[in-house]
Amino acid sequence: MPRQLFVTTALPYANGNFHIGHIMEYIQADIWVRFQRMQGHVVSFVCADDAHGAPIMIAADKAGKTPQQFVADIAAGRKPYLDGFLIAFDNWHSTDAPENHALAQQIYCDLRDHPDGSLIETRTIEQFFDPEKNMFLPDRFIKGECPRCHAKDQFGDNCEVCGAVYAPTDLIAPYSALTGAVPLLKSSEHFFFKLSDRRCVEFLQRWTQDGRLQPEVANKVKEWFSVRKNPDGSTSEGLGDWDISRDAPYFGIEIPDAPGKYFYVWLDAPIGYLASLKNLLDKRGEDYESYMANPALEQYHFIGKDIVTFHTLFWPAILHFSGRKTPDNVFVHGFLTVNNGEKMSKSRGTGLDPLKYLRLGMNPEWLRYYLAAKLNGRNEDIDFNAEDFMLRVNSDLIGKYVNIASRAAGFVHKHFDGRLAAVAPATADDPHAELVEQLRSASATVHKRFEERNTLQAVMEIMRLADVVNGYWNEQQPWGLPKKAASEPAAVPARMATLHRVCSATLESFRILTVYLTPILPALSQQVEQFLGASCSRWSDADRPLGASHAIQAYRHLMQRVELQQLEALFEPPAPPTIETPLPGGEAIAPTITIDDFAKLDLRVAKIVACEAVEGSTKLLRLTLDVGEGQTRTVFSGIASACRPEQLIGKLTVMVANLAPRKMKFGLSEGMVLAASHADEKTSPGIYLLEPLTGATVGLRVR
Ligand SMILES: [Zn+2]
Repeated sequence: MPRQLFVTTALPYANGNFHIGHIMEYIQADIWVRFQRMQGHVVSFVCADDAHGAPIMIAADKAGKTPQQFVADIAAGRKPYLDGFLIAFDNWHSTDAPENHALAQQIYCDLRDHPDGSLIETRTIEQFFDPEKNMFLPDRFIKGECPRCHAKDQFGDNCEVCGAVYAPTDLIAPYSALTGAVPLLKSSEHFFFKLSDRRCVEFLQRWTQDGRLQPEVANKVKEWFSVRKNPDGSTSEGLGDWDISRDAPYFGIEIPDAPGKYFYVWLDAPIGYLASLKNLLDKRGEDYESYMANPALEQYHFIGKDIVTFHTLFWPAILHFSGRKTPDNVFVHGFLTVNNGEKMSKSRGTGLDPLKYLRLGMNPEWLRYYLAAKLNGRNEDIDFNAEDFMLRVNSDLIGKYVNIASRAAGFVHKHFDGRLAAVAPATADDPHAELVEQLRSASATVHKRFEERNTLQAVMEIMRLADVVNGYWNEQQPWGLPKKAASEPAAVPARMATLHRVCSATLESFRILTVYLTPILPALSQQVEQFLGASCSRWSDADRPLGASHAIQAYRHLMQRVELQQLEALFEPPAPPTIETPLPGGEAIAPTITIDDFAKLDLRVAKIVACEAVEGSTKLLRLTLDVGEGQTRTVFSGIASACRPEQLIGKLTVMVANLAPRKMKFGLSEGMVLAASHADEKTSPGIYLLEPLTGATVGLRVR
């Protein structure tokens, strides 16, 4: 009987692109979903953008967009990541979609109108309010002096200098991080979900401790039911009520019958799982209510360890007390660090940028395989290590698994017309049948590991099996068989039959390994299906022999090795933004000279006593200059295009007085006048003779 599964990953906040942590979670869930589908189970695998809340509203405002536009732009960038890493969600939706508005409001009303007494209550609380923006400020948007160590400019929830945790109202000299205004304390009516209600506590103690959750997660959750310390130093016991409302202006879903009040983003975010599912079912023409009413439906959420509270307390309680199905389980994973836990930093380039990975032409299935080989299904952090990555892909995935196919296929085409021999059912002395049997009998173990999301153990088992196949190959030494056969004609048929069986058993084994790896390597699996001319996409394919005379294609390269340069490029810090060097006047400033170099030039103020056009030249003017030497000099200058001679007569200018005289076609030039022009005279024409400010006199030196 096929199982009915509803599977989600956590909804990413729509204020930025995916990072590698998102991709890890999606790959983990995608592997599990593909594995379930290989069993013939029916899965709805959905996600959505978490679109609401103050941070998005503020970011949109800064970007000059409406929150809807802002979120739509982020959503438009999701596809290259998901397609790139072969993550096959059935649906991607948004928590701002109409389905979510309707569902969130209905769930709230069901909690408020609970027949055994409402689980919603209102209380008046005091909160900081920005009088310039006319809005209540979220904790992260209030700054001030730390009440403990007096560090300036600390956030409203904790001090980054001394680590103190406090309420925003504890800050000394608080100010709004949005406007700098002094915030006012204003009281407002807020809506609370009564998590402390006896009914909730009893339900959650049962739900979280009945063995469904990962043990490490259940233990952590258990602490929340007992005495705990509050940020302000006081202690409280048991679960606290949950503030689920925010005041306008807020980008979110309006609370029914409460004008100006919106659901806190964390109330409607997980409801987005249901909204995305409903949207998917509508597209498929299926009825949401009857889908959810199926008692056999299983519901699973993959999440990171940072959002356990929301998913193991609020979420099941809200669903249960609104009369809805609760999750069968919540699968928690740890964080991903990169290169020995170095803090991810974009500027230092230690992070792993998923799109850069794809742009560099790195195979997405390398990463899928590597992450699968690290994730054990527990709430533990894992590390992406570049050397480890290269080793596992090149030595294990390609060296142990992919190479099996290339070794055996060549012989099959060379000697047996591309057709396999039957591998007989296992008997005591048949190593060929025994090999295949050994791989087949591992099916239950590998299956169990995938079901538990312990892909680390699944991959270890598959690689152990690959070692068995390679050991068999080396023991049989099939490469020597044709030669031996040739030297001993009588033995030809037997030797060649052995060769045929060895290659066939090896390829049968390769197919079984491929079936086991299909959840992790879906694209490679499809290539192998073409190569072998047989399905690898159902788990039961591992039990079906290819059999006698089965034809295979010629081997074509299945997967490239990771190159060191690719990893170096992946972790190379991004080049500093290239600032376009300004070119004053169209050219760079000339190399530096010393003051002595400059002193060699003797620049003098000169009077233009005469000026005339030069016959036979369109460029040159003949200037007669007086620099106070008691005699004049003649200088030819290429400024005819910019000046008319009569304009210049009587003016002062600057000349190079110690330039060696130059013999020109029209006479001797005894110096040079200074004029400014652009490096590219064609696009920026104009020549401008220099003229000293009023008061300068003939003969003065420029220094
Ligand atoms: Zn401090």
